[in-house]
Amino acid sequence: MKSEHPFDILIPAPVSVVKQEGAVTLANLKTLHADPEFTGIAEEFVRLAAVFGIRLAVSPDPDADLVLRRNGTLETDEWSIRVEPSAILAESAGRTGMSYAFSAFAQMLFAAEIRGPASAVLPRGTVTDKPRFAWRGFMLDSARHFQTPATVKAVIRLMAHFRLNTFHWHLTDNQGWRIASDAVPPEANAATLTAGQYTKDELRGVAEFAARHGVRIVPEIDIPGHSRGLLKACPQYACDAAAPGGEFCLGNPETIPFLKKVFAELLDIFPDSPVIHMGGDEADTAHWEKCPRCLAAMKAAGCGTMRGLENRFMTEMTRFLIERGRTPMLWGTCSGQTYPPDTIIQSWLDIREPLRVAPNGNKVVYSVHNSLYFDYPENLSEPFETWMFELSEKGVYMTDPHIIWEEKVKDAIIGTEACLWTERVPEWRVMRKILPRLGAYAECAWSLPGKKLWHDFLRRKELLEAAGYYDFLLGNCRERGEE
Ligand SMILES: [Zn+2]
Repeated sequence: MKSEHPFDILIPAPVSVVKQEGAVTLANLKTLHADPEFTGIAEEFVRLAAVFGIRLAVSPDPDADLVLRRNGTLETDEWSIRVEPSAILAESAGRTGMSYAFSAFAQMLFAAEIRGPASAVLPRGTVTDKPRFAWRGFMLDSARHFQTPATVKAVIRLMAHFRLNTFHWHLTDNQGWRIASDAVPPEANAATLTAGQYTKDELRGVAEFAARHGVRIVPEIDIPGHSRGLLKACPQYACDAAAPGGEFCLGNPETIPFLKKVFAELLDIFPDSPVIHMGGDEADTAHWEKCPRCLAAMKAAGCGTMRGLENRFMTEMTRFLIERGRTPMLWGTCSGQTYPPDTIIQSWLDIREPLRVAPNGNKVVYSVHNSLYFDYPENLSEPFETWMFELSEKGVYMTDPHIIWEEKVKDAIIGTEACLWTERVPEWRVMRKILPRLGAYAECAWSLPGKKLWHDFLRRKELLEAAGYYDFLLGNCRERGEE
């Protein structure tokens, strides 16, 4: 029986595949050589091969059966795998590209081994690949429901297997403030913030884990709204300390110094995160409208409206990040506000938002909810809320950040991000909500539009499922999430 060609089952689909006559028998692979910067990922290749009974010995001899080689002529995210009778050669410019080569090699092995390890071969040929978008994100909400660091790492590992590179970590919201902070009085930390909270060491551990897997972290503290999780512990920063809502008081002169302390801590915990998310969405102006301090601040600033005062507040906070060499990111709004041009806008509600913000100089990440919110049910037997839409795997696959009327602003769209909000997603349902839609999403984020074909995607997914790849991912990601 003819097997599927292992180059033809990759998810996401690669840029270029060249096939040649001949093949390498996998059982004959004995040695692996890695250039020094790939030492860490070489261990991943060895462990992966061992799953199929292939015992690879790491060798100092570059003339090995499997070679991981640095090629400085490739772009940062580019990778290639060349299968020759003499050796299999994986190349990239750095560790990020090699981690993509690894994830593709894993899928190739599953496809090759589907007929049994004794006869498994990789046919000769070359796969060359690079992503369509630089920003291929996935957001996990750890505020509505808390997840252990092991589960968070498992999600990051799953992302890495599908060549996604940006983990947006929503750490605070009305339902919980998940960051241990020295800016918050210890008694407040202990009394109200510890029902699921990451220590600084745990946050750093997740960051280190993500970096090893070629994933960068965008941590988010959502202000000035969505903040009841903190304000119930520190009501002095709310408009009405007796009945704190979800919004920080914009007229309290202590609010901004306090938040700057909080963000300074976040920058210290995540020194390698170039982008920091400040939320900025869905603040309710009702408390501000009734607050004498906010009303006085609005008048003193000459803003005219509370949205104007909010805009001044957020602009000052984003400037705090810019001055420290980080790029601020905010959820898009429908209130017509503009932010400094060096702020990335995450467009989630209004598909026409890029048309509004791109001329201001803002870059945009496309996260439109009815295509990319993974909390929306894949089928209606799952729990859902009234604001949700059904979002099938096919629905995810249809999405494209360059919708037709955005042609003129498409250079502003730096990529895309799927989001898992967790109002109805306790920790045990997280992986179930992510798979299998993550593969469909990854293809939208990585592959060229001409490579996207739904029936072909289904064929590849069916084969990888039959080969046990998805079971491997779940088991592998759960077991290895702790590392
Ligand atoms: Zn106020």
